[in-house]
Amino acid sequence: MIINPYESAKKKIDIAAELINLHPNTLEYLKKTERSLVVSIPIIMDDGSFEIFEGFRVHHSTLLGPGKGGVRYSPNVTLDEMKALALLMTFKTALLGLPLGGSKGGIRVDTKKLSEKELENLTRRYTMEIINMIGPDRDVAAPDMYTDSRIMAWMMDTYSMQKGRTIPGVVTGKPIEIGGSIGRTEAPGTGMIYLLEHLCQKLNYNLKKMKVVIQGFGKVGSVVAKQLCNNSCNIIAISEEEGGIYSPDGLDIDALIKWKQQGNLLKDYVDKNANPITNDELLSTECDVLIPAAIENQIYSRNADKIDCKIILEGANSPTTSQADKILEEKEVIVVPDILANSGGVCVSYFEYIQDIHSYFWKLDRVNREMKTILVDTFEEVFKFSKKTDSSLRTAAYAISANRLAKAHELRGLFP
Ligand code: GLU
Repeated sequence: MIINPYESAKKKIDIAAELINLHPNTLEYLKKTERSLVVSIPIIMDDGSFEIFEGFRVHHSTLLGPGKGGVRYSPNVTLDEMKALALLMTFKTALLGLPLGGSKGGIRVDTKKLSEKELENLTRRYTMEIINMIGPDRDVAAPDMYTDSRIMAWMMDTYSMQKGRTIPGVVTGKPIEIGGSIGRTEAPGTGMIYLLEHLCQKLNYNLKKMKVVIQGFGKVGSVVAKQLCNNSCNIIAISEEEGGIYSPDGLDIDALIKWKQQGNLLKDYVDKNANPITNDELLSTECDVLIPAAIENQIYSRNADKIDCKIILEGANSPTTSQADKILEEKEVIVVPDILANSGGVCVSYFEYIQDIHSYFWKLDRVNREMKTILVDTFEEVFKFSKKTDSSLRTAAYAISANRLAKAHELRGLFP
């Protein structure tokens, strides 16, 4: 089933707009994208052949400040996916009250097929192609799927070389040695743990006794798994693109991390208490907390009724469709929505951005303490609004952001 990510994102705004009676002009404005750039990125491959890749950078909104959003390298990248993810970033930064807008970029490429040199050349040429769209006061990039601190270093260097001086603030998620923030790589996962602990406390659940299922073992899934494991939680299933592994007695996450570092697939892990599991089976496994931390639209109309958990904590961007949301609401599953659940990433990106401006770098406990305060306060605001309006946490979160954006739009007025 093909789900258009941009249409799916706009539907979520429609639902929130109805709740708060958003003016139709504002709604129209929030559903549109400020600007989109599609570029061709030619590079010479290691074998001397010539290839052209397609790349994108989209500013959904710069109403509250410079655009902010990741760069994704994946074979499935499309303009509509970029627009959807940029829109999500606008609502994410507005929800946290950050002085930033929303953007996204990416290249349609399978990085597993590229050498290090090809990846570097691709990144540098992409940066050059979008150079007029980015900058510390225009649009600040960050890592996303299949991009990392190394790629951010190449982007920052290319931008700086063109401008004739070092400008660390053009990207966040950089290596710490060149202006990155401590705690940024783990931030989405760390933030998710803070929110889960807070929610469990609120609902009187004992997190240590909960059975957790995680889809995705990348930058978000593996950090969450490791931190939950350190908290002595029981992770009964975890997966990656090729499939996963299930054990009702709980998995040894440290051993699985080692297994992955040796270049193996999760589903091939040999343990007498564990069995391979497909991604479909994993999503319908009975558990207390389900963490989709892979890609978009994993929980949709056809599998939502099979979901068997109390809480969904969205580590991925947009893992649940609006149709699935309705089914989950009827089943009384609590969904902590992406724009809140995984917002630790952009929160610490903001900290990195201001550390770069001040050239003054924080210690890890300050980063985590300040992130926790912002995330827990935002959760409380969303929780209260959802109770007051008898709406889901997602609708409440979108409504709070939409109100903030509408107010800014009204105060700024329309040019000319
Ligand atoms: N790619 C991340 C996200 O989707 C981080 C964005 C950022 O830090 O700018 O939230």
